[in-house]
Amino acid sequence: MYPKELSRYKEEDYLMLSGIQHFSFCRRQWALIHIEQQWDENLRTVEGNIFHKKAHDGYSSEKRRDVIISRGMPVFSPALGISGVCDIVEFYRDDKKGISLHGREGRYLVYPVEYKKGQPKEDEADVLQLAAQAMCLEEMLECEIEKGYLYYGEIRRRIEVWLDEKIRQQVRDTFEEMHHYYERRYTPKVKRTKACNACSLKDLCIPKLMKERCVKEYISKRIEEESED
Ligand code: SF4
Repeated sequence: MYPKELSRYKEEDYLMLSGIQHFSFCRRQWALIHIEQQWDENLRTVEGNIFHKKAHDGYSSEKRRDVIISRGMPVFSPALGISGVCDIVEFYRDDKKGISLHGREGRYLVYPVEYKKGQPKEDEADVLQLAAQAMCLEEMLECEIEKGYLYYGEIRRRIEVWLDEKIRQQVRDTFEEMHHYYERRYTPKVKRTKACNACSLKDLCIPKLMKERCVKEYISKRIEEESED
């Protein structure tokens, strides 16, 4: 295990693992949620939260034949300075290549499974989150995890994800950047993109306002629009 005393981060400065998906979606969105503690729920996030609640509602584990299924497992990484919760971690019995688990007979291979409500996306946010979970588990259990799974509710199936060095380096670089922002309590300015339309914080972020020349002009335009209704 990575020695805690070698960690560059104090435990109180650990970042939320799941923040990596917000950060890769939009750095400003991550900062509004994790630095400024602002949160706005739109339909997508409400549905997502309900879906997640089903996947892990407190920690539990069960054994089905040669597989142990753990739900809601807390994880952390002193090396990355993060902590979080894994929806599901599956332990497959493999007495040759696996690791031993406290209180369990045999040896096991470890696979994280992350649940998502929607369908597979083009960006890498989900893969980064899954890789970060695997890296936490590797540190905690002193094992190697070659792959994990992303389960998508809309297509009702899981996708196998190989966790290569490239994605692991991306995880390290991203958390490094997030810690840098967090230490400075820095919220980036609005950069309007296609992502803004689906953003749960668009009303708080007010991206349109940034396009107006000034606040005064924005307000008079709104008053004008309302008086025309
Ligand atoms: S509205 Fe756009 S710029 Fe603002 S937080 Fe959301 S995605 Fe980022």
